[in-house]
Amino acid sequence: MAQYTPMMQQYLKIKAQYKDAFLFFRLGDFYEMFFEDALKASKELEITLTSRDGGKEDRIPMCGVPYHSAENYIKQLLEKGFKVAICEQVEDPKTAKGVVKREVVQLITPGTVMEGSMLNEKENNYLASLTEFADGTCTVSYNDLTTGETSIALVKDGFEAAVSELYTRPVKEIVIGSDLNEDKVEGLKERLGYTVSIEDRTEIDDEFQPLTENIHQEKFLIGFGRLLQYIQHTQKRALEHLRPVDVIELKQFMALDMYSKRNLELVETLRKQGKSGSLLSILDRTITSMGARMLKKWMERPLLSRQDIELRHQQVEGLLEQFFERESLREQLTSVYDLERLAGRVAYGNVNARDLIQLRQSLSRVPEILKILQDFANESIERLYQSIDPLTELKELLEESIAEDAPQTLKEGGMIRDGFNSKLDEYRHAQANGKQWIAELEAKEREATGIRSLKIGYNRVFGYYIEVTRANLKHLPEDRYERKQTLTNAERFITPELKEKEALILEASEKGVELEYELFLQVRERVKAFVHKLQLLADQLSTIDVLQGFAEAAESHDYVKPEYHETRTVDIKKGRHPVVERVMKEETFVPNDIYLDDETDILLITGPNMSGKSTYMRQLALTAIMGQMGSFVPCESANLPIFDQIFTRIGAADDLVSGQSTFMVEMLEANHALSHATENSMILLDEIGRGTSTYDGMALAQAIVEHIHEHIRAKTLFSTHYHELTSLENELNRLKNVHVRAEEYEGNVIFLHQIKEGAADESYGIHVAKLAEMPSSLIDRASELLALLENPARNEAAAGQEQQLSLFVEEARQKKPKAENEDLEKQLSQLNLMEMTPMDAMNELY
Ligand code: ADP
Repeated sequence: MAQYTPMMQQYLKIKAQYKDAFLFFRLGDFYEMFFEDALKASKELEITLTSRDGGKEDRIPMCGVPYHSAENYIKQLLEKGFKVAICEQVEDPKTAKGVVKREVVQLITPGTVMEGSMLNEKENNYLASLTEFADGTCTVSYNDLTTGETSIALVKDGFEAAVSELYTRPVKEIVIGSDLNEDKVEGLKERLGYTVSIEDRTEIDDEFQPLTENIHQEKFLIGFGRLLQYIQHTQKRALEHLRPVDVIELKQFMALDMYSKRNLELVETLRKQGKSGSLLSILDRTITSMGARMLKKWMERPLLSRQDIELRHQQVEGLLEQFFERESLREQLTSVYDLERLAGRVAYGNVNARDLIQLRQSLSRVPEILKILQDFANESIERLYQSIDPLTELKELLEESIAEDAPQTLKEGGMIRDGFNSKLDEYRHAQANGKQWIAELEAKEREATGIRSLKIGYNRVFGYYIEVTRANLKHLPEDRYERKQTLTNAERFITPELKEKEALILEASEKGVELEYELFLQVRERVKAFVHKLQLLADQLSTIDVLQGFAEAAESHDYVKPEYHETRTVDIKKGRHPVVERVMKEETFVPNDIYLDDETDILLITGPNMSGKSTYMRQLALTAIMGQMGSFVPCESANLPIFDQIFTRIGAADDLVSGQSTFMVEMLEANHALSHATENSMILLDEIGRGTSTYDGMALAQAIVEHIHEHIRAKTLFSTHYHELTSLENELNRLKNVHVRAEEYEGNVIFLHQIKEGAADESYGIHVAKLAEMPSSLIDRASELLALLENPARNEAAAGQEQQLSLFVEEARQKKPKAENEDLEKQLSQLNLMEMTPMDAMNELY
């Protein structure tokens, strides 16, 4: 260490405390990085790697980014999951003795970013913590630093369930204790892609006690304490906007495990093409970004309380009925800014005057919004606005204090409105007067000298001056004017009285700017007192926004209000898949009923590939989720029970659990469903068992169906290509067969996408192969083999006798019922072949 220069020693000391972050070390106008940091950052950011003499023989690797454009680089690092420690000079380099003192003023991490440009405005930015206890339970807590929202949940079912819970939210970073098992940590990093941070302190400091007033359980305090300690460690500043901890009762919401959320493509598609193609993209008609965030939360946590669900539906209905009022409401909402994040920044202490203007503009919309909602004259809508406080006092404060055209900067004046403060007005007056006086002086001097081009100007170095062109100098009386500056074509002068006025003007402007800054800080402080009320208002406006969005979606996509009841009957008439129906181009979506009465739990779905089985299954899940979120649903009518959980094993196998075989993933997901589902749950199993050999897979599939039927009784849709399973209908009384209808037309198969009762009667695989233009000899051979397989009795007779074999194909394919076969056999045996010509025989056969 001693070999390094004092500055490098300082660097190394600080870096030792921030091992897992890039240390941005302030040196003049740059943030510099050294050693490993420099090597890594130059690669990640594609910036030039240089080196610096640090006292030792070897030069030290170094790279840097300019201070003023650092934000962009920080953003890039955060997006890659890294952390950045900002180390500033904390004393004036001019007065410092020795090396300038430096300190880390903020640790920016993916879960604790506050800078608007680094955030996705339509999504929350959660920092989470996960704590596992000796009894196997876990707590999961969340905080969005930009909005102050803080919550915690106790997960009783262990680590995997806790991970599932985490997966329901857009978490960017997770804080854990250093004692968490290594494999689990790896899983969090690899499977979920989180930035993982360690924090072992869990105590809650006195100043944060008010946040935890409503929680008493030791486990909650520990879990939340860990989160809080980490936030304090990274932020190093006041955290007054954190809201009291909200305990999430997991039992209040429909449980959607991680697999289902992904499989059903609720907020993003499986191929991760982002939002488009997801249910969210279809439903999102919100106007404000806080509304968009709330919609996402509702989608992640559909409700279980029938009363709450129905209230939302009534509100949507109310909004839907009155088109014009809804239009005006939408128009007002377009002028509402992100109050929630503005409130966060107010509390955090980094708002500028422009932000306060946005706040004022948003607040000025509230009375109008209240009035429009009243115009609806609807009881359930009244619930939406009756507790809204328009924060008139705050709005008035902002109207009086902040200037219309205030700049973004805090130290150049122009932020405070005239009339707000008499001292400031005086300064401004003096300034204005002085300028007026100077304008008058210019006119006076022109007259006195007769020089019409004489003018008075101002620059930063010389202040006010009188400028006379060289040609006119001779007209200037020498006595009063003092020469100040010579230009090519002109001379600049000052006079004593001009100097005097200048001093007054400058003093007024300087003092004015100073005073404005002070006044602004005072206003900001007063606004701070409203933070919690603003957060509440933000919630209320977001709710209105989400509900009007539901009404919009219902109107443009033709959704209806679902009805709920206490029995377990599912009765959807002409249901549609909300996403597939929107992305279809030429064809139109074929609606289908879904009916499962109280006594029917399982629909066994058969039908050719690509006929619409999984679309049908997903459509049930999506309809249930939309309904329980409070949205209307895509069908002609829906009568539904309330589902407590939805489990799915659908669609392309994914790589979520890396290193596992497809079949293993399938079994894991199925097992997850089997061990957690209740009779109030929904299970969707698509082609289970296809990942292993036929008999093995079929046996498993049947056993799973039986298990659900006997022990769980959840409403289940089970699609399969094992035709043999359709016979289960005879044995399991709560199972029904349905199939997707397809028809043959001129040797081709046509998918009708219609769901019908009963089992599918043919396999269309060969027709699909034909559609794919496989060689016709191959198709013929496949047809022969199929016939054989479908009629094993003929197997032996046919072996090796291809001529005969083809004779039987048609018969086998038509699978005539037994009685008819016997009849035929009898007729055949009665023929007197000896007396028939070949032609007779053929005609007879025909
Ligand atoms: P399967 O699960 O039977 O293989 P899918 O459900 O994946 O079939 O559906 C295949 C394709 O058929 C879908 O991508 C969609 O374009 C179309 N499809 C499915 N259901 C319908 C429907 N009800 N109406 C119109 N087209 C449909």
